[in-house]
Amino acid sequence: MALVVMKFGGTSVANVERIRNVAAHVKREVDAGNKVAVVVSAMAGATNQLVAWVNEASQLHDKREYDAVVASGEQVTAGLTAIVLQSMGVKARSWSGWQIPIETSDAHGAARILNVPAGKLRASLDAGEVAVVTGFQGIEPESERVATLGRGGSDTSAVAVAIALNADVCDIYTDVDGVYTTDPRIVAKARRLPKVSYEEMLEMASSGSKVLQTRSVELAMGHGMRTRVLSSFVAPADMQPVSLDNLDTIGTTVCSEDEIVEQQVVSGIAYAKDEAKVTLLKVADKPGVAARIFGPLADASINVDMIVQNVAADGDATDMTFTVQSAELPRALAVLDAAKSDIGHFEVKASDGVAKISVIGVGMRSHAGVAARMFQALADKGINILAISTSEIKISVLIDAAYAELAVRTLHSLYGLDAD
Ligand code: ADP
Ligand code: ASP
Ligand code: MG
Repeated sequence: MALVVMKFGGTSVANVERIRNVAAHVKREVDAGNKVAVVVSAMAGATNQLVAWVNEASQLHDKREYDAVVASGEQVTAGLTAIVLQSMGVKARSWSGWQIPIETSDAHGAARILNVPAGKLRASLDAGEVAVVTGFQGIEPESERVATLGRGGSDTSAVAVAIALNADVCDIYTDVDGVYTTDPRIVAKARRLPKVSYEEMLEMASSGSKVLQTRSVELAMGHGMRTRVLSSFVAPADMQPVSLDNLDTIGTTVCSEDEIVEQQVVSGIAYAKDEAKVTLLKVADKPGVAARIFGPLADASINVDMIVQNVAADGDATDMTFTVQSAELPRALAVLDAAKSDIGHFEVKASDGVAKISVIGVGMRSHAGVAARMFQALADKGINILAISTSEIKISVLIDAAYAELAVRTLHSLYGLDAD
């Protein structure tokens, strides 16, 4: 017998018919004697609709009220899933974030989970129920207001619940049957990775592979929670129930690096189209200027990703280029404008028609030349590189968004990732 957390994303619960399919996956596990906690997302498109309504009401809205609205999508699917399970003869109960309570920080709209008490969930499982938990939401204990975890946050809810319950595995059911070498919707030749290390998955997620929310991978890595990505679109009867000796036969297992025997130099290619580039022209080249530019951005909680500073040709003024999330661009420009007297003279150029392409693999630690081959391959296709950043196991380049898919396909072939 195993204790399993099963998370179902938006397309898996897109309507009541799909929720019946989800319930059949859950029933398979219950019938096999496994204990199950379910975490659900909102129906596909529901959260986008809620966000659009909030923005229509007011662009400059109170983040706490944003959360009050957007958290509602998951409540609908949690209740419906419990109802459908009950109708199939499976004992089930729904739980909202505040009931457990899933305690979060006060960063409304992008809150972090701080604590998940296991008591009520464990009691529910011990009573023979399936506990169906709303993903994406928790409660900020001080104000007792609902807080959401950022887009894609149900993955993080699932991993946090799995850790709280000390589950044997956290299964993330979605619309693809695993983590691929790149987004299978962009590259038909992408290959499923049977296993991927926490470190690589973390770099892939934070570089734009939204199959798992970055924070969920961080949590899983920190607690060694075995996490699998599986498809809910496989017929429930065609899947074996979870047993502790057949865990790694389907989907993708996210696990520790030393479990992976045949490690490639490059494991995956990620891309992010939601980046915007800001260039400050003719800023003074003297100590303290970078701090005066990036300090106010940090104070405004704007994440800066890549940074490039040119050498000052005349020893006097230089250009500084950096990237932020497209959605943050208007705020970033406003913050820079407000800091103008501190920063001194500059002219600003901004565009959001850029994409970040990242090559990821733990093999880079021991293999030289991965970056050089990348730059040459992009040059051969006439793709100009606007900025570069690296980590120990990742190289990212910023390019014109129009070339994003060409670049991903080119690099996927270059590193031998194409399926036969
Ligand atoms: P859910 O609604 O189930 O949370 P998401 O849309 O958040 O699903 O994540 C699944 C999607 O992630 C897939 O449909 C796929 O297009 C995309 N994706 C991006 N990169 C990858 C990758 N490397 N492997 C698998 N899927 C990926
Ligand atoms: N429903 C939320 C979203 O669309 C959370 C999730 O799906 O994980 O972002
Ligand atoms: Mg998702």
